[in-house]
Amino acid sequence: MKLLGGIEAGGTKFVCGIGYEDGKIIDRTSFPTTTPKETMTQVFQYFEGKSIEAIGIGSFGPIDPIASSSGYGFITTTPKPHWGQYNIVGAIQERLALPIAFDTDVNGAALAEYKWGAAKGLDSCLYITIGTGIGAGAVVGGEIVHGLSHPEMGHIYVRRFSDDTFKGCCPYHGDCLEGMASGPAIGARWRKSAVELGKDHPAWAMEAHYLAHALMNYVLILAPHKIIMGGGVMKQGQLFPLIRNKLHELLNGYIAHPLLNNEIHNYVVPPNLGDNAGLAGAIALASNCCDD
Ligand code: ADP
Ligand code: ZN
Repeated sequence: MKLLGGIEAGGTKFVCGIGYEDGKIIDRTSFPTTTPKETMTQVFQYFEGKSIEAIGIGSFGPIDPIASSSGYGFITTTPKPHWGQYNIVGAIQERLALPIAFDTDVNGAALAEYKWGAAKGLDSCLYITIGTGIGAGAVVGGEIVHGLSHPEMGHIYVRRFSDDTFKGCCPYHGDCLEGMASGPAIGARWRKSAVELGKDHPAWAMEAHYLAHALMNYVLILAPHKIIMGGGVMKQGQLFPLIRNKLHELLNGYIAHPLLNNEIHNYVVPPNLGDNAGLAGAIALASNCCDD
């Protein structure tokens, strides 16, 4: 079986690891994201001498993952200092003569859950993370959904919760989904970190409202076979039943499928790959690039 490398390029830390094309991870390490020079030196040191056949990068974004584009391989408009317009694929190509797959962290996670996790055996799935930001990726028929670039499903507008006066914290759109429902949005609205809010705090019903609206839009536009919800905020397990109930209520029986009605607990689910989801995503991307 082929041995593959994965890089989960996150805004706060990079996770590098190796695993097999069946998703089994055999080694991993991580280090803080500082400057490209410093961080990439650590990446190269990690992979030196490891006999991998391809490498996958699941990156924070926005990025250019379109192979035919002149900007392919770049982290593009990120506000993160030093990383804007950084050619991460080019930097790796210079050092490691290997096939490279490059996509967003959430597209990688969606692919890993599709191949090995909660959506194994299904035809499509959508993975959404609710953390420092909100992002989602979709796989349909084994292919990651791309268009002009990658989708940006975290920045859709959602109906405001009655009584919510929070203006939203997305620097681009104010009260888009990310601006209203990311971890920092919850912290700013309630003036207390999301981690510290009690399980019965009203924040969670409001959070479920926003996330269920987003899920409704994804269901109506894409009709994925399963929706997998990860990221730090979803560690609040009480959100799952709240979101499922709200989604069911919003859809109002319009779509007759049992998974959107009495089986909705099997439709909106946590990730199966747990804390390895990001790295597994990068390795899943690498495995796809070997298939081509
Ligand atoms: P990142 O998005 O940076 O990759 P995470 O997915 O862990 O990392 O998201 C971090 C965000 O998630 C923070 O804003 C934090 O407030 C929130 N968060 C982390 N853990 C929890 C938790 N147990 N409960 C609620 N919110 C959490
Ligand atoms: Zn936005």
